[in-house]
Amino acid sequence: MRELLHSVALRAARYLEDIQERRVSPSHEAVRDLARFHEPLPEGPTAPEEVIRMLDEAGSPATMGIAGRRFFGFVIGGSLPAALGANWLASAWDQNAGLFAATPISATLEEVSLRWLLDALGLPEESGGAFVTGATMANFTALAAARHAVLERVGWDVEARGLFGAPEIQVVVGEEAHPSVIKSLCMLGMGRERVVRVPVDRQGRMLSEALPALKSPGIVCVQVGNVNTGSCDPVPEICRRSHEAGAWVHVDGAFGLWAAASPRYAHLVAGAAEADSWATDAHKWLNVPYDSGLAFVRDARQLRGAMSMTAAYLPQGGHREPMLYVPELSRRARGVDTWAALKSLGRSGLGELIDRNCRCARRFASGLAGAGFEILNDVVLNQVLVSFGAAEATERVIAGIQEEGTCWCGPTLWQGRVAMRISVSSWATTEADVDRSLEAMLRIARDAGAAG
Ligand SMILES: *Cc1c(COP(=O)(O)O)cnc(C)c1O
Repeated sequence: MRELLHSVALRAARYLEDIQERRVSPSHEAVRDLARFHEPLPEGPTAPEEVIRMLDEAGSPATMGIAGRRFFGFVIGGSLPAALGANWLASAWDQNAGLFAATPISATLEEVSLRWLLDALGLPEESGGAFVTGATMANFTALAAARHAVLERVGWDVEARGLFGAPEIQVVVGEEAHPSVIKSLCMLGMGRERVVRVPVDRQGRMLSEALPALKSPGIVCVQVGNVNTGSCDPVPEICRRSHEAGAWVHVDGAFGLWAAASPRYAHLVAGAAEADSWATDAHKWLNVPYDSGLAFVRDARQLRGAMSMTAAYLPQGGHREPMLYVPELSRRARGVDTWAALKSLGRSGLGELIDRNCRCARRFASGLAGAGFEILNDVVLNQVLVSFGAAEATERVIAGIQEEGTCWCGPTLWQGRVAMRISVSSWATTEADVDRSLEAMLRIARDAGAAG
């Protein structure tokens, strides 16, 4: 075991060094060579060293350089060194994170991380928290708590009786709600088509004057950090009106909520703490390994009400039982990498990570605008939308950038226009990486005949 793990560590270290200079997307050759994996089920055993050798030799070259410094696709962070190391150790521990009795260390680090997260994000300290796979499941988990709470207020036990015959819940979302919010509503039986969609402005923010008359039982889903523009819904105004009407406010802050951890950017999410529940990702801006999402619910009782399995697993000895707050029973020890990331960064390191990424985003925007290309969003956070002219020109430039390999950015459609989206979310990205990527982008745009 010692020799095997030692060799894995060396291979992983070499991978993380090489990836800084390798092309960001895998070569066509490397992807083609994945055919090697399509073999019949082996008739007998293969030595562990051989399994790892094949995985590294044929698998590593076919990875996307997400762990590197110049991956700007979607909203994807890397892995902080301490978080990656903690994740390895936790895998060696192989703890089942469902119950305190099964894993005191994992349960304890969830409890500590939860307290630190609520502090860093400026959320009510009494909130309950769930360590789940990502913001999709965090939205699902928080909205299950919302469904439980708003129906309980009108005398309906949704866990016992289901939604058949239940009072109708008014569900309100912005036109720009992330698809994972809509999917969560589908999974919770609240439907995709019966939700009220509120129009948005040019940055994708809900127009609060366009809110319908709110009622109880009701759930209003707001967003901090639009996945394209980085902008935030007017949360304080929406909270005020929702609460007056007895409705629940849920915040999807998959990456945007982390702005609260930076004194420079906290004003963007001011008032988010007035809501009733929140969803965010640790695998985006906190830079922990996949997968790691977080749901918080102001009234922990409502989260437990929605997530408890049976009375058979009641808390023992006054500990927080992780399984009472999440959809799963058995799962990995996500609290360990989250704790390690927060411990290694501290409050100041977390704030600096957010600030540095936002500074790099502005540097991208001014470099591209300086060359005459149009920036389609107000660059308020870490997201930049750029057009290289007509849709076909922009598509050609994006394809060229992905193919050339210095960096990687994806396409998006923003209010009817094709754009390239740059998201700066990695702890490892420096201003030198921005300059090197800008040089490549502008050279490729010129070669593609895009007029700046
Ligand atoms: C990324 C994102 C999600 C989905 O998060 P996953 O971790 O991929 O499940 C939800 N909402 C917003 C605003 C996002 O940016």
